[in-house]
Amino acid sequence: MRAILSLILGDCVMRERIFLSPPDMGGSEQRLVSEAFASNWIAPLGPFVDRFEQELGAYLDSHVCALASGTSALHLGLLTMGIGSGDRVYCSDFTFSASCNVIRYCNAEPVFIDSERDSWQMDPDLLAQKLEEDDKAGKLPKAVVVVDLYGICADFDRIEKICGRYGIPILEDSAEALGSTRFGRRCGTFGKVSGFSFNGNKIITTSGGGALVSKDESIVKRARFLATQAREPGPCYHHLTIGYNYRLSNILAAVGCGQMMVLDKHFERRRAINRRYMAELGNIEGIGFMPEPGDAVSNKWLTVMTLDPNVIKKSPEELRLLLETENIESRHAWKPMHMQPVFEPFECVGGAVCEEIFNRSICLPSGSSLTDDDQTFVIDAVKKYLG
Ligand SMILES: *Cc1c(COP(=O)(O)O)cnc(C)c1O
Repeated sequence: MRAILSLILGDCVMRERIFLSPPDMGGSEQRLVSEAFASNWIAPLGPFVDRFEQELGAYLDSHVCALASGTSALHLGLLTMGIGSGDRVYCSDFTFSASCNVIRYCNAEPVFIDSERDSWQMDPDLLAQKLEEDDKAGKLPKAVVVVDLYGICADFDRIEKICGRYGIPILEDSAEALGSTRFGRRCGTFGKVSGFSFNGNKIITTSGGGALVSKDESIVKRARFLATQAREPGPCYHHLTIGYNYRLSNILAAVGCGQMMVLDKHFERRRAINRRYMAELGNIEGIGFMPEPGDAVSNKWLTVMTLDPNVIKKSPEELRLLLETENIESRHAWKPMHMQPVFEPFECVGGAVCEEIFNRSICLPSGSSLTDDDQTFVIDAVKKYLG
């Protein structure tokens, strides 16, 4: 249709913008939100929050607390681990800033750990080295935030063992990785506590929302308590702890229940989009893609393409601007945390690997609602500018 229109009308047809990862409603969300309205469960919490938690819990075989954002889930994750002022917390260097902003919310100090080349996730060897060093110096971290970047699960087989040696808990940032698996287990079930995001650009969305997940029910109960203003039981408002207003509203949970119905579909669609990009662009010299380790099945949240600067003369930024002229949204890979002025005072172990990946990479439109036509248009545009 798009092709025919532009044939007839030429370039004066303004194409609809192709977004990187827009929300993709499955069809039942509006009905469920109407149900919430009809029952007047508008106010915070209500039956859809319970249902959403149950459904997600069944999917992950874990306990779940639905929250206002992925960031609040990670923040509460650290609080349930007792992280506080002056504590050291390791964190993946290659991530979105929310993973480590929460460390600063606790007045703790992040230490960034570089990625391994094979998966782009936290490098277990560097982690082991740094823990050994810090153990000798008597300054072990209180927790490690491990990110499942772009839907690929980190190497928890090794990371769990390494942290286990010192009894250090893992907070798994699975914001981008709902549906992914590694070693036959779902992402978000490796950490002592894990966080998911249902922001508008994620694999499923509640427009804004998140969840804290754990196998340990007492942790989830504690998080629920902290997220609802830390109100002690009893008739008057009695507080022993600083609380937060972090719960997901019943209206948004209704959207989440609708999205759970299409999670598998979204997962398959993003994987198919990724396969097609790889099949049609992967044979161009100098173009590569984020690697998927053999034991991992990624939800391919975003397809990340790499450009070898020795072969391809255009930088990711030049390509991004050219795609922009076609009304196609693309985006840089996350800029590593050690390159962020706001985290400059903090230590980083390595950093060269993810810095190189960042300098070479660009994320292509990957939303589950991307049509075949739209993808053809994106692929042709990339070929036009890089071919
Ligand atoms: C999106 C994202 C978050 C934050 O989730 P919000 O729901 O936007 O607060 C945290 N970590 C990573 C890696 C993310 O991609």
